[in-house]
Amino acid sequence: MTTLTNLTAACEIGANCYLVEVGAVRVVLDAGMHPKVDGKGALPLYELLDGRDPQCIIVTHAHLDHIGTLPILQQQFPRAEVVMTQGTAEVGNAMLHNSVNVMSAKRMEDGVEDYPLFTHGELEHVAMNWVQRPYDVPFRVGEGDEMLVTLYDAGHILGSCGAMLETNDGLRIFYTGDVQFENQSLIGGATFPDHGVDVLIMECTHGATERDRHYTRERELDRMTRAIRNTIEGGGAVLIPVFALGKSQELLYELGKMKESGRIPDVPIHFGGLGAKLTQVYDRLADCTPRLRPGVRVKECVETVPLPKDASATMLPSPGNIYLVSSGMMSPHTLSNRLAGYVLPHEKDAILFVGYSDPDSPAARIKMAGQGELVRLGTRADRGQAYPVRCRVESYDFSGHATREALLHYAKRLKPRQIVLVHGDTEAQEEMRELLEKWVPGVPILLPEPGKSYPLGE
Ligand SMILES: [Zn+2]
Ligand SMILES: [Zn+2]
Repeated sequence: MTTLTNLTAACEIGANCYLVEVGAVRVVLDAGMHPKVDGKGALPLYELLDGRDPQCIIVTHAHLDHIGTLPILQQQFPRAEVVMTQGTAEVGNAMLHNSVNVMSAKRMEDGVEDYPLFTHGELEHVAMNWVQRPYDVPFRVGEGDEMLVTLYDAGHILGSCGAMLETNDGLRIFYTGDVQFENQSLIGGATFPDHGVDVLIMECTHGATERDRHYTRERELDRMTRAIRNTIEGGGAVLIPVFALGKSQELLYELGKMKESGRIPDVPIHFGGLGAKLTQVYDRLADCTPRLRPGVRVKECVETVPLPKDASATMLPSPGNIYLVSSGMMSPHTLSNRLAGYVLPHEKDAILFVGYSDPDSPAARIKMAGQGELVRLGTRADRGQAYPVRCRVESYDFSGHATREALLHYAKRLKPRQIVLVHGDTEAQEEMRELLEKWVPGVPILLPEPGKSYPLGE
């Protein structure tokens, strides 16, 4: 019998982790860290692994909600083979070392006593056991070679993959991880299998979002280009809060093209920190990872002015400058949060959002606020200093996740015997289930509850 156990602690985009068991073979898919919970509560339900070794841990990509607690899982199960792509290994290493720094700062500033959950030294030690696997080449897992695993390019960020698990008796389980089927600026769309899947374990981040029928990425880029040009020509500064991994590299490349073509003035772009470190990894792997434009290096397309290392440094935004800074959700104690306090009250300035914001985040509060309303930039809506929104505020859709229509088309093309929905809040999962019941009638749809086990493929 083949079973799936959901080790994610709640029905949401939290600490992603799933256990697939086929007889004696146990494979763990992802080892995430909850983005909003501090301390040990950020871990998946590792206690349900019962101290029994998984043979293999597959990490689909280097966002922390998929790789953030891998070192802890490895310390518990040092014999498990840990598999990921080269891109995920290199990006993941930088992400996890940065996470140690963030956790240590939280221990100092917010008194989170469990932090850091692991040290730089412990990370270096476990990372030596990561096995890098190429896309599209099957490999065996388990002592009696009980399972065949193949990684496919997921088009989400550098190194991202979906994983096909094929059991000895021929059951084919495909886990999408986070997927984008459309081309982004640097990373091309997913190259997933389009047949021969019995069980599809699918993310549904955008399950509750219907995209505008007239949407194109070019149109969004045009809107953004105009906003930047108007703000700069009107004597303002542009603040773009951005995730360090993925969105930063895509956006930086686009800003370079806007400047080169003269669509925006030739003004300084301030960029640094983790985003710059990860851009170096993107560039270093430009020739050996799948790219839309093979060999193109971001650093050669656009010049940047390094940011101060310390988010509390006294840099002020000044007119005629672009600031591409993290965090994307303007979390407290980050540079984008600090700069927002200066930009918000200034009519000539602009804040341009390019990604998802959690409803509790300062970024979401700014997006929701009307002109002239007060917003607070602390951890909660009633915390921190209040600022009036007088600057231009715009949002663009450059998602690294598939639209729900793309997911529905994919499910329909595959015609699996069973679909399992993960990586979405309850609303997204419920809406996706309703739609799938119409798109693929008769196919059982499973929304796995946290901590529970389910038979697969029956
Ligand atoms: Zn992701
Ligand atoms: Zn994710």
